[in-house]
Amino acid sequence: MLAIKNHRLTGADVSFRQTPNVGGVLRARFVLLHYTAGRTLDSAVASLCARKPQGSCSAHIVLGRDGRIVQLAPFDVVTWHAGVSQWNGLNGLNAHAIGIELDNAGLLHREGDRCVSWFGQGYPDKEVVMAEHRHGGGLRPWHHYTAVQIARTLELCELLVSHYALEDVLGHEDVARGRKTDPGPAFPLAAVRGRALGRGADVWPRLVVTATGLNIRSGPGAEFERLAPALRRGTELILLEPQDRWSRVAVVGPHDLEGWVCNDFIARQVAPRSGLAALPRSQRSVPLPRARVRA
Ligand SMILES: [Zn+2]
Repeated sequence: MLAIKNHRLTGADVSFRQTPNVGGVLRARFVLLHYTAGRTLDSAVASLCARKPQGSCSAHIVLGRDGRIVQLAPFDVVTWHAGVSQWNGLNGLNAHAIGIELDNAGLLHREGDRCVSWFGQGYPDKEVVMAEHRHGGGLRPWHHYTAVQIARTLELCELLVSHYALEDVLGHEDVARGRKTDPGPAFPLAAVRGRALGRGADVWPRLVVTATGLNIRSGPGAEFERLAPALRRGTELILLEPQDRWSRVAVVGPHDLEGWVCNDFIARQVAPRSGLAALPRSQRSVPLPRARVRA
């Protein structure tokens, strides 16, 4: 479990490496979320600890795709992550916000049948989310966030909001409109924000599978490959990205499984987190007849 002591984070898989790129005293009012647009957690940490003649950057936290956290400065010191930015009459959010950088390649582009980052790395389809940014720009490929990374970000945001009585959880795209697109449409920002601010558990909707068996696929359509054996009726899901006919979901359970399911065979969970437990054991464990597997 994460905790804060003397403005430093403690917990499993948390480490500290002081960046030289810091300013004065910070009395934080917000959390500001970013993607690194980089290769790895380690490369992001190195970059945010480097002095650069053209302008150094930093942040308080870098959060890896496997959930690892590296803190680069105490939470009561200004770091340099927001640049030119405004929010509700405030200018320069560095002076008001704790910065969290999520290890993610950001906006990708198509090269033949691959999706490639700006630094030339290719990503398989299952790590790509096709979505339109809420600032527009049409349907484009974005590097996905892992379920463990999203869960860890939420846990950290909840802790920071309660520890420092923060007012809001924002994206860089909120405060630098037209200039920045991070954390982008692959990140469930509205849901994380709602949960971290305690605006009700249903802001990050929990769903259950209503078909006897439901395929989970690598993309939004029956033509995409199946990622795992069909999900059983009553399986709990977290809604990551709703779309018109299909939704990207994370499966609640011990395995890090996320993918796309058809909206016709999922439903909002009525009682919180009781779906699977409420089902008779027979419905949880009976192997599924293939013919009844949907979508
Ligand atoms: Zn940013």
